[in-house]
Formats: sequence, C-alpha cells, structure tokens
Amino acid sequence: MDAHLLEVRDEVFRRNPGETEFHQAVNEVFDTLAPLSARHPEYTDAAILQRICEPERQIIFRVPWMDDAGNVQINRGFRVEFNSALGPYKGGLRFHPSVYLGIVKFLGFEQIFKNALTGMPIGGGKGGSDFDPRGRSDNEVMRFCQSFMTELYRHIGEYTDVPAGDMGVGTREIGYLFGQYKRITNRYESGVLTGKGTGWGGSLVRPEATGYGAVLFTQEMLKTRGQSFDGQRVVISGSGNVAINAIEKAQELGAKVVTASDSGGYVVDEAGIDVELLRQIKEVERGRISDYADRRGASVHYVSEGNVWDVDCTVALPSATQNELDDKAARRLVESGLIAVAEGANMPCTSEAASIFQEANVLFGPGKAANAGGVATSALEMQQNASRDAWSFEYTEQRLTDIMVGIHDRCFETADKYGMPGNYVAGANISGFKKVADAMLAQGLI
Ligand code: GLU
Repeated sequence: MDAHLLEVRDEVFRRNPGETEFHQAVNEVFDTLAPLSARHPEYTDAAILQRICEPERQIIFRVPWMDDAGNVQINRGFRVEFNSALGPYKGGLRFHPSVYLGIVKFLGFEQIFKNALTGMPIGGGKGGSDFDPRGRSDNEVMRFCQSFMTELYRHIGEYTDVPAGDMGVGTREIGYLFGQYKRITNRYESGVLTGKGTGWGGSLVRPEATGYGAVLFTQEMLKTRGQSFDGQRVVISGSGNVAINAIEKAQELGAKVVTASDSGGYVVDEAGIDVELLRQIKEVERGRISDYADRRGASVHYVSEGNVWDVDCTVALPSATQNELDDKAARRLVESGLIAVAEGANMPCTSEAASIFQEANVLFGPGKAANAGGVATSALEMQQNASRDAWSFEYTEQRLTDIMVGIHDRCFETADKYGMPGNYVAGANISGFKKVADAMLAQGLI
C-alpha cells in the first residue's frame, strides 16, 4: 500500500476505534487501490477516500419487545446508510447476537462496491440487530420485527433505503417487517423491502440467487482455466439460504458437494448432500445439521468438533460467516489440491487466507463479486415492483446469469487492465470503487 493510502487508512482506523471487522474490510479495499491511484490520482484523492469510508448516516435505536413469558426484552437496532451515489441505500438486515456497529459497517462498506459491481442502480447500506432469533417462537419474532420497524420505517422507502434479509432474516421476518411498515404508513409500497414472499411482491429466484450466483461466478472463473464444475469435489460451509442453494446449483452442474455445517458441527456425505432433505430440516423444520446425519443413513458422518475445512476438496465455497476460514485452513486446502474458492458469505476468508490462495494461484472470488447475485436479484425485485410486474423463473434466472457473467468479466478485465491478471480481488475493488467515485465526483461535495 502506498504512503498516501496508508495515511488515510490509519486515519479511518483512528476515527473508528475497536471496529475490527470494519478495519479489515477497509484494509482489503485500500490494499488493492495502488494501481488505480498511480493512473488516476483524482479517484483516490484523500477527500474521496475519507468520504467513502464515512457513512452518510448511522442510525442506532432501542428495540423493546415482550417475550412469550411476559418479560420485557431490549435489543439494539442498527441501520447504516453508507453511500447513495448510485441509488437508494440497499443491503440486508442481520439478526444475530454478534451484531454491533463494527459488523454493520463492514457489511455496509462491502455492500457499496458489491452493489456497484452488479451494474444496477443501488447504493450501499446494511442494518440489523443483536436479537437472536434462535429458539424464539413465531410470535416473539413477529413482535420483535414489529418493534424494529416501528423505528426503522421513518428512515426507509423505495427511493431512500431498501432493506432485505441477511443472516437470521428470511421471508418470515421480511413479511412481519413489511406488514408493520404497511400498517404504519398506510402504503402498499412493495419496493421498500426485498426478499418478500413470491405471492405478495417478491421475485422468483430471489431465495436461490445468492447461492446460485456464487456457483455461476465460480463456473466463470473455472472456464478461464478450461475447467468446469463437472466432477469437482466441493466443500461448502453453512446450511442457510446461501449454502443450500449453492449446493443445489453445484450439483446440477455435475459437482459432488460433500459437506454442510451449522454452529453445532458439520456433516460429510460421501454420496453427495441430499438437498431436499437438507431443505426440509433447515428451512421447514428449522432443525439442526445433526438431524441430517440422523436421517440420511450410512453415507454420512457427523463431526461436532473441528472445522469443515479439514475436509479435502477441489472447490471451496465458504458460505457461513465472516472469518470462518483462516490461514491454517487455507494452507491445508491448498496442499490437498484445491483449485478454486468463492466467498458465498461476506468476508468468510481472513485476509491471510485470501493471500495464501492467491499466492498459490488458486482461483479466488471475493464475496463482493461472488455473492452479489442476491442483491442483484433484489434489484430485479425492485424493478418488478416499480413496474407492477412479475417475471417468470426462467427469465429471472437468465437475468441473474447474465449479471453474474457480467460481474466476472468486469473483475477479470479490470484486473488485467491494471496489471494484475487473474486477481479478482483487485478487479472487484478497483472496478467497484471507480464506479462509485465517478458518481461522487460528478455529484459534488455532499
Ligand atoms: N444480505 C445480502 C448481501 O449481503 C443481500 C442484500 C440485499 O438483497 O439487499 O448482499
């Protein structure tokens, strides 16, 4: 990193003490900007860098709600409206006990560039709460969502800020949030939230989009080396929306996916994961991955200690959570014959792990490119809502495929142009950053 970028980066760290995940995300972007800085210093002027790192608005609020036993519970709600140069703030809500401002800012910062890469007119934002939905009844989740929206509604709107799901927030939660927004505002404003149920304004393919998109992106990376998913042995972490749909698409393309995991452990299924059974357990019953092992039979073993990255594979799709794959795991995977990694989750690889993959010439697709299919399909949902239309599954999937191929090619070509061929991290960061900076420069000092 050159001295000028380092100086601004350190100032950003000083202004945001203790927000380690945000620091990591900023560092990873700054780390790849030197070639842009050398060619076009106007883009990496200190004022632009500082403005990009400072959210336009940060909202933190109290979320009081009553549990089923009649006790008052208090959680903290967040919405960070990071950057609106390209469109209304857009990004998910995460409900997880680990959520604090540093997590929301790291996710919001990544979202700016991810959304720019999709080519769709959406700015970057993120929100959430330290609320833990696990073990909570439907009624408790509903009361929490209603309370959360009772504050959030005044900050969002189809032209202002459009939240969606992330960890802990799926169609059920979006439904409760939308219902409360409609009740407070007396407006059926479909485009205020995405990830809605497909019967009431949601888009087909949105549930599958992040996982499918990550696999489509990986397929494009593999093609650059004359390879495909056919016959690959794939390890996927997680068993949420991203992981399940990535498993489905990878297997459709001829790969064998041998793992899935949750916070309790992981399964290795040498026959290939049975997606229907996994969906039934995780999406319908809201059960545990250990139930999969109990019901699937002899091909499976369940591991409650240790790490899914102990399993050998040729393609790895980390799709659980941030920093789940570290340098030690990366080294082991490289030694065992890994050829490609794509981040289904946001920042699942530590910076050290990402460097190890790149140094070993393993294809490495960073989250802001590889998992952009979810938010891109959210933008397609906004488009359908604005035109009061509903597209077919086939048409929407074709749009998603075109977008993922476009993102891949943009990253690949940008990396090439700036002298770092095959470096998708640099390609994604430079191309996303340049698009946002261009719009900011055009819109003046705001
Ligand atoms: N939470 C998802 C992401 O990380 C999707 C956001 C959206 O659809 O707005 O990109």
